[in-house]
Amino acid sequence: MAGPYSADFVNRVRAAVDIVDVVGEYVQLRKSGRSFVGLCPFHSEKTPSFNVNAERQFFHCFGCGAGGDVFSFLMKMEQLTFPEALHKLAERAGIELPMTHAKEDDDPPENRAKQAMLSAHQLVGKLYHYVLTETPYGKEAMTYLSKRGLSPQTIADFQIGFAPDSWDFVTQFLQKRGFSLDQMVEAGLLVKSETGNIFDRFRGRIMFPIHDSQGNIIGFGGRLLETASASRQQAKQPKYLNSPESPLFNKSANLFNLHRARPFMRKRKQALLFEGYVDVVSAWQAGFHQGIATLGTALTEQQARIIRRNVEQVVLCYDGDAAGQEATAKAIHILQEAGLIVRVAPLPQGTDPDDYIRQHGPEAFSQQVLLQAMPVTAFRLKHLRASHVIQDETDQARFIEKALAIVIELNSPVERDLYLRQLAEEYSISLDTLKWEARRLYKQQKNNSHRDKVSPAWNNSINNGKVTRAKTLPPAYHTAERMLLYYMMRNRHIAERVQTECNASFQVDEHDALAAYLYAYFAEGHPEDPGQFIHYLQDESLKQLASGLAMMECKEEVSDQEIGDYIKQVNHYPKRAELERLREEQRSLHLQASSADSEEARRELEIQAAVIGMKILELENALKEG
Ligand SMILES: [Zn+2]
Repeated sequence: MAGPYSADFVNRVRAAVDIVDVVGEYVQLRKSGRSFVGLCPFHSEKTPSFNVNAERQFFHCFGCGAGGDVFSFLMKMEQLTFPEALHKLAERAGIELPMTHAKEDDDPPENRAKQAMLSAHQLVGKLYHYVLTETPYGKEAMTYLSKRGLSPQTIADFQIGFAPDSWDFVTQFLQKRGFSLDQMVEAGLLVKSETGNIFDRFRGRIMFPIHDSQGNIIGFGGRLLETASASRQQAKQPKYLNSPESPLFNKSANLFNLHRARPFMRKRKQALLFEGYVDVVSAWQAGFHQGIATLGTALTEQQARIIRRNVEQVVLCYDGDAAGQEATAKAIHILQEAGLIVRVAPLPQGTDPDDYIRQHGPEAFSQQVLLQAMPVTAFRLKHLRASHVIQDETDQARFIEKALAIVIELNSPVERDLYLRQLAEEYSISLDTLKWEARRLYKQQKNNSHRDKVSPAWNNSINNGKVTRAKTLPPAYHTAERMLLYYMMRNRHIAERVQTECNASFQVDEHDALAAYLYAYFAEGHPEDPGQFIHYLQDESLKQLASGLAMMECKEEVSDQEIGDYIKQVNHYPKRAELERLREEQRSLHLQASSADSEEARRELEIQAAVIGMKILELENALKEG
């Protein structure tokens, strides 16, 4: 609810922003009928079931049920409180916050802590950049960076900085500005020793700020500057050091450079995924702005989903060494699971993208690496070849079997054929033999897997693996209740009519609860606006239900007759249920009668059945009359 804000203010903010724009910053949306659809950011899916309705200004996911207005979206997406979401959207719309509101006092302590950590990161980011570019302490680092080919513009673009080789440079800086040092330890900027001493985490390092999707600095990656004057301490330090996990910094849910790359990723319909920050920076400078990187850890499902929300295609540009190829093989699986089309950039053995660009230039990187990116199957076969020494026929047979296992995973018969031909040629095996072997292997695999995993059908290249489940239709009263709620939310007269004419309450508990809130909502004089009603609801599951209902594609106009029919359906339900029960009882009595011990018992049971039969007739007539 609005809390200290007037409903008027909340509505003004809501009216000033477009939910399609706001959601569009997180989810790639495409127009479909009256709504926009995309992949849900709140659950993992490959086909879009996330809907945003521009006209009615709310969203709903038919997959996981998430739904609500623009405020609920931002709250859920960014883990914000309502006031935070309101501030953010008001700021976006250029609406000034009411002066009466003292923001600081209302914020819960954990928000204030987060705010302090965020502002410390912004300040320290500026400090590091200043030290690098404007002070003698940064000279050596600056020389190193320009030797590596980074221009002053790129250094400014990425706000690259330098942490001097000092124990308390940042500690003092933060202390003077009144930050709690313990909080700064929690934020990862400082370290506390076992003896309780607090000192700088990053010393003698070139600093790369890491931002969240909104462009706030949430952590740093530091590369050790190996200098002639390097201290003994430095020798023991790791080459790369990242901020630790903190309330701000979640390594599995963020990607380096995402906030800058996002518009370019969408424009080029492609993301370049690197392992190192320097690769991203180097590619950026060479004109490839759609590059992002993981944060010093292996790619996570969450990161893959973030990428998928923005683009359909990703090119993996990991290092050309064995570790890089191993990481590539793992990343492919995660990216494909997230529904991405993956290609692998072929980097020569022992080079990373940064090396390659520096040695060969942007043009070669584009022509020889990006444009030569291999489909996943080609990469996997190459990877397999590289890890197999073939000395005799047994080695070869083993290799071929593994290669075929990769090829039979392909859905397209054309592609399968292509790779089979390549293998046949390369190892001088007849194509027929290979095909026969592939088919045998496929059958064997199919028999072995009793799991209901998606497996490509050998003879069918379209839509295979898709499970078509016969959906059971909801009972008529269920649909009628939903239709009524849909129109009730948009028209107070319909709501009033239902309130008086529906003598029994709605059968589905949640529908009944929603109707009760709706009556109260209109009674309090609120307008006929599903968006506002959804906002008015406090219960998350009811919000979801209401947004789902409001998203239904129903015709705008509804006649009194139609509403009457729906009400009848709802009112009839208890009678129908009773009818069903009586019929069952009648059947059971007839059955007992037919196997009765004595004639007397049989007659007694038939009489009971007849009495019930009369009740059934009465009910049937009542239902016919409406
Ligand atoms: Zn969802």
